[in-house]
Amino acid sequence: MMLIDGSAGEGGGQVLRTALGLSLVTQTPFRIIRIRGKRAKPGLLRQHLTCVNAAATLGNAEVEGDVLGSSELTFRPKTMKTGTFEFNVGSAGSTSLVLQSVLPALLKAEAPTTIAITGGTHNGLAPPFDFLQRSFATVATRLGAKLELRLVTHGFEPAGGGRIEVVVTPATMRAGFELMHRGALISKDAVALVSSVPKSVGQRELAVVRDELEFAESELHVRHVDSPGPGNALSIAMVYEHVTDLFVGLGARGVTAEKVAHRTTGLVKRSLRTDAPVGEYLADQLLIPMALAGGGVFRTTEPSLHTRTQLELIPRFLSVTLEAQPEATGTWRVQVR
Ligand code: AMP
Repeated sequence: MMLIDGSAGEGGGQVLRTALGLSLVTQTPFRIIRIRGKRAKPGLLRQHLTCVNAAATLGNAEVEGDVLGSSELTFRPKTMKTGTFEFNVGSAGSTSLVLQSVLPALLKAEAPTTIAITGGTHNGLAPPFDFLQRSFATVATRLGAKLELRLVTHGFEPAGGGRIEVVVTPATMRAGFELMHRGALISKDAVALVSSVPKSVGQRELAVVRDELEFAESELHVRHVDSPGPGNALSIAMVYEHVTDLFVGLGARGVTAEKVAHRTTGLVKRSLRTDAPVGEYLADQLLIPMALAGGGVFRTTEPSLHTRTQLELIPRFLSVTLEAQPEATGTWRVQVR
């Protein structure tokens, strides 16, 4: 059985999620030890346990160690199920990370699958729904993936209670994918989401975006959303010909709207200092779909520890070679063969 050290590399939930996803695709049983070994609170939290349960349900897996706090897990998948499923993180835990752990298998399944996931839709340290939909899914579609993502209810920390619905239709993924240039800037927009938070919070955030990034009034939008708890998120999208970059800042108690906005515009400015089409987060998230497609290449910024961890772990499950090489300009070229 494959043995995985959950504290290797990035040493967090990603090692577990990648192992679950690729174990389902390849029907490879694995044992993971020191789960989330580099985190302050190691072991399976509710969020990770939901990932395990979702993967186990879809893969008819035999599982040992699937309890809260567990630092070891054995996972033996059998045949993949398809159909309609519901998973509930039971907290504000990220719905997109649950999706991340089963998506590889759904892309390679034999029939379409619909999954609904309840939890957080706009979390720190996880892909916010807008990123998933506008950035990740758009590029994954170019790889051949068929993904429909719907946000039914927003879920913010700490209340959670958001809901996403995802339909994945298996399709032949295309090798030979290339994302080397952003292409021209086609449009840009900034949306300030507010749930049980005054509209003025969103307006103050957008005023910073207007002043810092020279957005026109017509590119700025405040959107009221219904959610079980209060919340605020600022999403700034830069839509290029070949890729959409999405930057999200989350409002929190005690943090001013201006501070949230300055942090987020700072991310946009940092990305404008490079011409790499693939940002830090998209880089680690694209590697599995690209490996499933059998190859591809993109240019990105210096690989994060998450990306480096993916580069190490993916070839343990799939017969692919992954390489990251620095370019003279300071960007990196990441290739899957
Ligand atoms: P982990 O820290 O192991 O739980 O993994 C976090 C995952 O969330 C990685 O795939 C990151 O790329 C992704 N992620 C974290 N923050 C963001 C963000 N602001 N936008 C998009 N993806 C994110």
